[in-house]
Amino acid sequence: MKEMYAVIGDPIGHSMSPLIHNDAFHNLGIEGYYHAFRVSEDSLEQAIEGMKALQFKGFNVTVPHKVDVMKYLDSLDESATLAGAVNTVVNKNGKWVGYNTDGIGFYRSIENRLSKPLEEVKAVIIGAGGASRGIYATLAKRGIGEIDLVNRTIERAITLKEQCPFPISGKIMSLEEFESEQSRYDVVIQTTSIGMSPNVLEQPVSLKGKVDHQSIVADIIYNPLKTAFLKEAERLGAIAINGVGMFVHQAAESFYIWTNEHPDVERMTQIVYEKLKGAT
Ligand code: NAP
Repeated sequence: MKEMYAVIGDPIGHSMSPLIHNDAFHNLGIEGYYHAFRVSEDSLEQAIEGMKALQFKGFNVTVPHKVDVMKYLDSLDESATLAGAVNTVVNKNGKWVGYNTDGIGFYRSIENRLSKPLEEVKAVIIGAGGASRGIYATLAKRGIGEIDLVNRTIERAITLKEQCPFPISGKIMSLEEFESEQSRYDVVIQTTSIGMSPNVLEQPVSLKGKVDHQSIVADIIYNPLKTAFLKEAERLGAIAINGVGMFVHQAAESFYIWTNEHPDVERMTQIVYEKLKGAT
């Protein structure tokens, strides 16, 4: 009999997770099946109890449940505590254990592109929401040299930095302060929702004067594949990386937590590109 897996969220119709996970099960000869379920906020607890009763092996969690799900789990991995949110849950002997693979997924998507050791990297993260928090904590834990944080709501960035248990140097700036900042960055990470389809002409800040041809500019948005922010990065000669890498790597990390097997990330990437190109 196949082991059951799921992703829960609302909306969920456009999720690409079933495609890549079911392909990975098939490709690795694992008896698993992954399905997307639309779960509203008021039926979250019932959905989680239902999956436990049906002995689901694990599930992913997406918007709007990444924080609320935590109160229905039996324990949390450090990755979830650090991120303050859960995107992956595994059934360990009848107990739900929550993880967060967004931060490590992001790191995996850029690690091969870094031109210097992480300890020497000066980075800036634009945005201080859920995704930013996981990425900040992961990079801080791994010993990155410095991270500046830029956000529209400055208090949110201050809280994010204060709650990270790994002290890391770096300034906190508003979007306006960043525009007049004189620093040059090795890595720029765009984590706000600005620039997502259909608002494809928008970008949170300009990169002018902040990057050169060795800088990596990552935008975690993947629809569109090339945001206005990434287009500016390319015009300035920087290395542009879209959010597909983070998406497939977070999925691959979830897959490993559930099955102890590493899926073929290249294959997952191809599937996502085919799907996204077909959709645009
Ligand atoms: P979130 O928690 O809601 O945070 C949103 C962030 O965007 C906050 O920093 C917010 O600033 C900022 N923001 C939103 N609208 C803004 C505006 N009009 N002007 C200035 N700043 C604005 O969202 P999230 O979960 O972190 O997700 C953020 C993005 O990452 C989404 O586009 C999501 O699709 C993408 N994402 C991608 C992956 C992947 O695998 N590639 C994974 C997770 C998320 P304030 O604090 O001032 O509100």
